[in-house]
Parts: sequence; structure tokens; C-alpha cells
Amino acid sequence: MNLEPEYREGLDQLAVHYKEVLALLGEDPSREGLEKTPMRVAKAMQVLTRGYTQDARKVLTAALFEEKYNQMVIVKDIDFFSMCEHHMLPFFGKVHVAYIPNGYITGLSKIARVVDIFSHRLQVQERMTQQIKDCIQDTLKPLGVMVVVEAKHLCMQMRGVEKQNSITTTSDFSGAFNQAKTREEFMNLIRPK
Ligand SMILES: [Zn+2]
Repeated sequence: MNLEPEYREGLDQLAVHYKEVLALLGEDPSREGLEKTPMRVAKAMQVLTRGYTQDARKVLTAALFEEKYNQMVIVKDIDFFSMCEHHMLPFFGKVHVAYIPNGYITGLSKIARVVDIFSHRLQVQERMTQQIKDCIQDTLKPLGVMVVVEAKHLCMQMRGVEKQNSITTTSDFSGAFNQAKTREEFMNLIRPK
């Protein structure tokens, strides 16, 4: 089978397994409404995990620009959708990134791209936060970087484990952001007015 570019190896096999899953859940996979579901799910899952085949560091190293600007650069409200690795259910929300350049900056869209790559994998919010921070730190080598992630987890909300609408916030930082004053400056700037 010729794969469309957004799909990868194993697609047919995935669909076979999802058909089995449907039967195990008590469904009739041959009824009309479900006939194409296994392949649809297989394709959706491959898209939602496409980050495994993408290299976030390469995205940044390919888009470094020399620049003397050394004030805080902030990219806030980057929407993301990911899936928790414990239940394979969505968690989603916003990522805010700040860094203080040390000779190099990158395109703002590239930061969003990095978020997209790490979120399109099975994740825990804490690790995703750290991976985004590490990726920016390792490639741009800024004076400091801070990442804040605010998310709702459907695995908690749908199962009633947490109050509806509760938001989980995680953050990670390096360098200049070890100073409380610098972190505060960033937190004030991303706080909804
Ligand atoms: Zn979960």
C-alpha cells in the first residue's frame, strides 16, 4: 500500500488491532457505522503521535539568527493538544515560553513548532514542559529559558477524578530564571489581564 505522506509504517496493522479492540469493547465492528472506524482511528493516532518522527532540535538549529537583542523574548498562548501516556486520552491547553537571548534568536513560529512536535507524542505534562525547555536551552543557548504549561486533562475530567475545569500548571526554567524576580516578570506578562 502506498502511504499518504502524513502516515507511516504500521498503519494497516494498527487498523487490524483497532478492529479487535472494538469487538473486545462489545461492539460489532462490521456494522455500517464502524466499518471504516479502525482505519480512521489508526490514521488519527498516527497523526497525534507524529512527533516521534520529527526532530525539534533540528527545527531550531535551522532557524537561528544572530541578534544583539538581550531582553526577554516571550511567546505566550501557544495552543497545544497532547495525549497522556497513562490513559491515551487528550490533555490540552496553552504553553508560554520566555527566553533571554545570548547572541541568537529564532523565529517565533519555530517555538510553536517545537511545542507541536513534543505534544504530538504520548506525554506527561511535566516531561513535555521539561523537553521544550531543554530543546530551547540546548540549541539557542540563551541566558535563560522558562516554560509554563497550563492544561486540562480529559483522563481526569471524564472519569470524574478531578473537578471539572481544573487546570494543571507546570513550569521549568534555567539560567537567569533561577532568579525569582525574572520569573515574576514573566509570570506577570503572561497573566490574563
Ligand atoms: Zn491520564
